[in-house]
Amino acid sequence: MESQVFFADLRSDVRENMTAKLSRLLEQVSISSIITDKELVAVKLHFGEKGNTAFIRPIFLRDIVQKVLACGGKPFLTDANTLYRGERGDAVSHLRLAIEHGFSFATVGAPIIIADGLRGNSCQRIKIAGKHFSEVFIGSEIVQADVIISAAHFKCHELTGFGGTLKNLGMGCASRQGKLSQHSNVAPKVKRRDCTSCGRCIAWCPVEAISFMKEKAKIDREKCIGCAECIMVCPQGAIQIKWNETIENFQEKMIEYALGALKGKEKKSIFLNFITDVSPACDCYGHTDRAIVPDIGIVASHDPVAIDQASADLVNAEQGIESTALKHNHARGADKFRDIYPQVDWEIQLNYAALLGLGKREYELITI
Ligand code: SF4
Ligand code: SF4
Repeated sequence: MESQVFFADLRSDVRENMTAKLSRLLEQVSISSIITDKELVAVKLHFGEKGNTAFIRPIFLRDIVQKVLACGGKPFLTDANTLYRGERGDAVSHLRLAIEHGFSFATVGAPIIIADGLRGNSCQRIKIAGKHFSEVFIGSEIVQADVIISAAHFKCHELTGFGGTLKNLGMGCASRQGKLSQHSNVAPKVKRRDCTSCGRCIAWCPVEAISFMKEKAKIDREKCIGCAECIMVCPQGAIQIKWNETIENFQEKMIEYALGALKGKEKKSIFLNFITDVSPACDCYGHTDRAIVPDIGIVASHDPVAIDQASADLVNAEQGIESTALKHNHARGADKFRDIYPQVDWEIQLNYAALLGLGKREYELITI
């Protein structure tokens, strides 16, 4: 049987605005039967890196919070600290940035609790039966919550093709150690011939793993943590990875972490994808390039695989926007993610998630 994915487009009028529509979407996924009185509800989102503007608007988080409160739950907003250079690497700067981006208690009506503590090492080992891992490291506050509501901004991603619910769970709920283990096989190399010695990668690398060797950039594999950031910052495309091997392993590892993040909450979870500001790269960058398709809407489901499949299909069904990162595949039905990241097979994450029993790729899209 197909999984149900509920879809709210962005049309609204005097009878129903978008926040009311989001509330109705949450009713479709039976939020009141998922949350019981006084349960702690982790609302997992990405607060956006400093300089990024594509993250979900705080007003929508407020609506989710209000709905949880109405069910008798105790909501808190959460995300885990990052691996790389940026403003979300420890809980203090992470909280400051979240507030700068509008996610204050006064705005959303719920506190923020960083999932993996002050320095990203507050985590719990979760046993799983995966191909890569037998245990994963998930942020403690997410493990200890009774319910998880994943509110993901759906956009493109350089290692997974797109980033949606599965990425919000797999990478987003992992502690620093967990993120590191997922990235451990991402070991880029510099093509010396293409390197113009601009030094951008050296300035960007969070662990000073890159230096000049005979006037060209060179990566020290011992120091590299595999964050893949240098691949995106090199203007010459001179930094590359073994795409076939790396992408498959990375996506599978991420899915095993998603499995761990949901363990014990299989019936206590709701997934939302906001298919708006569909930018060509993830919200971990300190900038947001123009959206590749018009804003589409919000989807909700109990199936983390079906919701990402449906979101990818909705993006690909749209007409692409000219003068964006899209090069060729503007037509309705054309694969927008493959156009931007030709080496990345985004279906790996969906296939592997389905194989592990996280959900189904087959879905019924129900427009509310
Ligand atoms: S960013 Fe690219 S071109 Fe610039 S130094 Fe690094 S590898 Fe070379
Ligand atoms: S060399 Fe590249 S992938 Fe490795 S840690 Fe530095 S920025 Fe990240």
